[in-house]
Amino acid sequence: MQASKSNQLDLLALEAINQTIERHQREIDDLNSGKATAELRASQRTMALQVLEASNLCESLNLELSRANADVAVVDSRISLDKQRLNQTSSAKDAQGIESELVTLGKRKSDLEDASLAIMEHLEEAEQKLSVLKVEKSKIDETLAVADDKSMQDLMKLQSGLQLESTERDALRARIPAEIVELFDKKSLRGTAVGRLIGRQCGSCQISLTAAAYDEAVNQPADAMVFCPECAAILVRS
Ligand SMILES: [Zn+2]
Repeated sequence: MQASKSNQLDLLALEAINQTIERHQREIDDLNSGKATAELRASQRTMALQVLEASNLCESLNLELSRANADVAVVDSRISLDKQRLNQTSSAKDAQGIESELVTLGKRKSDLEDASLAIMEHLEEAEQKLSVLKVEKSKIDETLAVADDKSMQDLMKLQSGLQLESTERDALRARIPAEIVELFDKKSLRGTAVGRLIGRQCGSCQISLTAAAYDEAVNQPADAMVFCPECAAILVRS
């Protein structure tokens, strides 16, 4: 089988473009798998959960606080009612009973106010924690959005590059005689199909040809196809 000098150079170009396409395809697959941002996405989920828990705690504390305040209001109204009754009664015994109840109500009110204060302190802490968590989450959201945006742009760049590379590859394949392309494809299945002979070294397997093999290779006509005795790649002599 013969191959003109220009066919041989096209084979080198075809090998190079095939390798570029493979590399870019791997990069596209990596981007599509989302593994670069998987860790960030996991942090985002964890943080979202923490924000939800903190927000639920604030909500339940608010509810508890309004219940405690309502209890205080009930006691307050009972106290003012008792005070009215105390003003109106003429019975010393009744007055004594009311006064005793007022003492109990006063104690109850003070206990409720203490409880309410404790809830408020707890709520304040919970709200602070919630706002810290929200800031942290929004930072992660932002980082992830930037990373996703970059991935998308890289993907678009790679895909449009891949289209150009495929067109270039098709043009090269169309330009090279079919039987040479067929041989190239067969050799590609086993590894690098073509290598440039640099000095005595094969550009495909990087092994140096023996002096005898080298002499034989360089003494062949320019349009003869020669092969590496080590890896069987098509050798392109410069
Ligand atoms: Zn070789």
